[in-house]
Amino acid sequence: MRIILLGPPGAGKGTQCKRIVDRLGAVHLSSGDILRGERAAGTELGKKAQSFMDSGGLVPDDLIVAMMAGAIQKAGGKYVLDGFPRTVVQAQELDKALMKAGDKIDVLLNLNIDDKIVASRMTGRRSCSVCGTVYHVENLKPKKEGLCDKDGSELVQRADDKPEVVANRLKTYHAQTAPVIDHYKKQNLVMSVDADKDIDEVTKAIFAKLDALKGA
Ligand code: ADP
Ligand code: AMP
Repeated sequence: MRIILLGPPGAGKGTQCKRIVDRLGAVHLSSGDILRGERAAGTELGKKAQSFMDSGGLVPDDLIVAMMAGAIQKAGGKYVLDGFPRTVVQAQELDKALMKAGDKIDVLLNLNIDDKIVASRMTGRRSCSVCGTVYHVENLKPKKEGLCDKDGSELVQRADDKPEVVANRLKTYHAQTAPVIDHYKKQNLVMSVDADKDIDEVTKAIFAKLDALKGA
């Protein structure tokens, strides 16, 4: 199954993706995680992406499409895309590449949520500096404040989760990423889920949609 999980930053894509891939035995392909890995490794791509990420804008399409094409090829046929495609051009390039291989996207799960809620999810997000596990200062607290439950490492805030960048990321989402939903609506591939519920309820709604799809 080839799934796109779409929604504004902070909607819960990473959180839900972990659960979906565990259930389906699929691979989680997060463009944001891959870019942060490139930055941490100090690669050319990481250096090029830095200023766009820090300002809350988007990394240029050609860099992202090349990066994700490689990741998709390695993943095989079962994956959940998180954070990609984020522009209509990226969606068109993804469709073209899949079509060449005789494949296609099975569904786009769209996480519907209000800007105010996602803003507080982003500013409260903390992640483990070593394993990347994601927490929230109010909604998903670690057992010991500031430390990862899994490996005890320090929890840190992403630089782009500071309030001044969050506002820009939301603007970018509405201007450049929301049109991707219409692109896939034209292909009849969009299923929407209310993402303002608690984490388990959102998971339940997503699994119900995926089960309905398998049974169809
Ligand atoms: P995204 O990948 O879409 O940017 P994340 O999965 O990282 O979003 O979630 C953003 C923040 O909100 C994290 O701190 C996460 O723990 C928290 N979160 C995710 N889903 C929910 C939810 N349904 N209710 C409350 N908080 C949530
Ligand atoms: P995320 O972790 O998905 O919130 O992504 C963090 C940042 O990485 C974004 O704000 C963008 O700057 C960049 N990024 C991630 N995915 C993409 C993409 N598909 N296209 C362009 N930029 C991206």
